[in-house]
Amino acid sequence: MPLQFNPALKDMPVYQPGRPIEEVAREVGLPATDIIKLASNENPLGPSPLALAAMSRALNLLHLYPDGNAFYLKSKLAEKLGLEPANIILGNGSNEIIEFVGHALMAQGIDVVVSDYCFAVYPIVTKLFGSNMISVPALELGHDIPAMLRAITPQTKVMFVANPNNPTGTLASREHIVQLINEVPDHVMLVMDEAYIEFLSDTVDLLPFVRQARPNLLLMRTFSKIYGLAGLRLGYGLGSPDLIAAFEKVRQPFNINALIQAGALAALDDDTHLRKTRENNSAGLHYFESAFRRLRLNYVPSSANFILVEVGDGARVFSQLQKLGIITRPMAGYRLPEWLRISIGTPNENARCLDALCSVLGMETK
Ligand SMILES: *Cc1c(COP(=O)(O)O)cnc(C)c1O
Repeated sequence: MPLQFNPALKDMPVYQPGRPIEEVAREVGLPATDIIKLASNENPLGPSPLALAAMSRALNLLHLYPDGNAFYLKSKLAEKLGLEPANIILGNGSNEIIEFVGHALMAQGIDVVVSDYCFAVYPIVTKLFGSNMISVPALELGHDIPAMLRAITPQTKVMFVANPNNPTGTLASREHIVQLINEVPDHVMLVMDEAYIEFLSDTVDLLPFVRQARPNLLLMRTFSKIYGLAGLRLGYGLGSPDLIAAFEKVRQPFNINALIQAGALAALDDDTHLRKTRENNSAGLHYFESAFRRLRLNYVPSSANFILVEVGDGARVFSQLQKLGIITRPMAGYRLPEWLRISIGTPNENARCLDALCSVLGMETK
């Protein structure tokens, strides 16, 4: 008998990341310094200078294992959020928190409710654990929250809602978030993915529900987006102490490395960097949105640090842009083959991207 792989792997989707600069440089024959990456919603201003300084101080202790409980980082996060350390689980990126959800709640015979055009990692983890995914049709590319609530079955244990959503940038209304919190049944864990929450100026604050130890609510956040630390992988989940204790059982002992523990602590103090990032982002979003209106290109108004634009043959436009040194994200894997997702860059990067896009589409820039 030949070796048999886990049958769940057979029809599991494979995550397609934004292409790395070095790889594209080799492929298109341009120096890496001429290439700009607007493909993975990273912070175009880079990491916080305070984080960089703290991490360089931490370098000479890299022979030691990290603090497995990340005491200082959890304490600081807790203080900042008005929570207790017992409300916080840290993950190697919030992607790992999604996997904790799988370990703690998913199995064969379990339903998981998501929306069409949801973040690609939800279906991957759902299928990895042999659970059944119920994907609810979107409304104008956004989550249809009432329909998602109606889709819940007695076998449903998890529902994922990213707000704003990636890759669409859509934000659920305040009314729908309130409805979701009020109506999600006790047997369903509501996972609210708030990866882009720091970019929002006005949003429903769900932290009070965590403080009240709502047993079936998990908030997920990350240092990969506004904090500009995607390369070191740190995300966190916020929930009731019981939920966090369950997740702690499935977490590997040293999943959060020593460098990011030092860097994240310092980044949490850098309000200036956060403010600059937010300002750069809203200016960049405005720049693309007004250009797309002028060019009569369809786009989805975005609440995050990226924008989805309809370009016709997304795969072709992606590869032409790549030849010009601009890496964007094609959307065929999300069943949006006519769309391209562009992360907001610096003003220069945005202008170069728009120029290149116009030339690929045969349009006048102006
Ligand atoms: C980027 C992103 C994440 C976070 O990823 P990390 O693993 O923390 O880097 C989670 N959810 C959504 C919706 C995202 O877009």
